[in-house]
Amino acid sequence: MKLDTSIALMEKAKKMIPAGVNSPVRAYLSVGGNPPFIKEARGATITDVDGNTYIDFVASWGPMILGHAHPKVIEALKAAAERGTSYGAPTPLEVEMAEEIVSAVPSMDWVRMVSSGTEATMSALRLARGFTGRTKIVKFEGCYHGHVDSLLVKAGSGGMTFGTPDSAGIPEGLARETLIATYNDLASVEALFSQYPGEIAAVIVEPVAGNMGMIPPKEGFLEGLREVTRKDGALLIFDEVITGFRVGLSGAQGMFGIDPDMTCLGKIIGGGLPVGAFGGKAKIMEAIAPLGPVYQAGTLSGNPLAVTAGLTTLRVLKEEGIYGQLDEKGAYLAKGVKEAFDDAGIPVQSHRIGSMFCNFFTEAPVVDYESAKASDTKRFAKFFAGLLNEGVYIAPSQFETGFVSIAHTKDDLDRTIEAIGKVAKTL
Ligand SMILES: *Cc1c(COP(=O)(O)O)cnc(C)c1O
Repeated sequence: MKLDTSIALMEKAKKMIPAGVNSPVRAYLSVGGNPPFIKEARGATITDVDGNTYIDFVASWGPMILGHAHPKVIEALKAAAERGTSYGAPTPLEVEMAEEIVSAVPSMDWVRMVSSGTEATMSALRLARGFTGRTKIVKFEGCYHGHVDSLLVKAGSGGMTFGTPDSAGIPEGLARETLIATYNDLASVEALFSQYPGEIAAVIVEPVAGNMGMIPPKEGFLEGLREVTRKDGALLIFDEVITGFRVGLSGAQGMFGIDPDMTCLGKIIGGGLPVGAFGGKAKIMEAIAPLGPVYQAGTLSGNPLAVTAGLTTLRVLKEEGIYGQLDEKGAYLAKGVKEAFDDAGIPVQSHRIGSMFCNFFTEAPVVDYESAKASDTKRFAKFFAGLLNEGVYIAPSQFETGFVSIAHTKDDLDRTIEAIGKVAKTL
């Protein structure tokens, strides 16, 4: 595989952009090699500047559930652009978007649009603190909620990949307000509530962990969080930036039957444009400016292009049978991949929920940050490089989630399984 043009671009980029990238994991520092620079993408594939085409399971880290450049999304975007790209005033599109979200996610009475998942979690935390008058937050080791100061403590995703789950530049006083619990371990949360009764504003959780690899919640874990927060008067915030409209129209909360106080969305609801949203119970959302004392705003919030891409995506997702198809594709891939690893004698923990999947290179069950960390990341790096060479594009880290889109055909999945089988034999 020739990457000459990408390598030249990286050399140039590194002189102006830190590590040549605008988001850390893209630099491939943990897996080695030069990232392909992408020039276009269509359906299930992306193509780099040297003309290599890959079957894509990164999906721009989650948003591209319809595949790339879906004709309906592109057509709607072209028409929207003709009408102007930003007004900084209310638009009918935002009302339609709010209707789609609150009708799909029953726990969200009200919703406000922002421009990234980070903004959504940052605003939800501020609101939780402003609403409860409390300052402490509970988060889980290995969960990632964007690069919010209070939440970049023991975070997953890039922090975990580079072995720096705690960021520099966060005042100790603020970090002290963030309490850390263990994912899938309710007792660790209960212990914090006994230690700090009446002081915790909110527990924030990825209901399906997607940033330390993909780890499903154990039975009773989410229910337990709902109970312990309710008892103490703390809020339960579901960060569904990945799972929202990914595991079903009503997200993980619909799948597991939980009623959180607040929900953060992003990724899919932007259809590939920069979007986030947060919302929840009306009595909490009333505390947001200009109705209440918690300030929050955004020049480009509810941007007509971003909302158009998101709305079009959500409307396709509402078509009959889409999530069934996604689940079938996910199951087909997971089964083939597991068989390929078994044939090669490579031990993996294979996780899947619908179209989200992850294979940890470890013999022991993976249920939390510590057990995920036990994975053989050297083996992953070799696996990653091998797959890229075979034209299969997965996230360049053991600690990320793979995504199937409705654009993946059976042929794409068969070719992927075959490539994995071939690479697995070299590990
Ligand atoms: C991606 C992600 C975020 C941050 O979203 P950005 O749009 O990258 O700011 C927050 N929470 C979760 C669970 C995410 O996966």
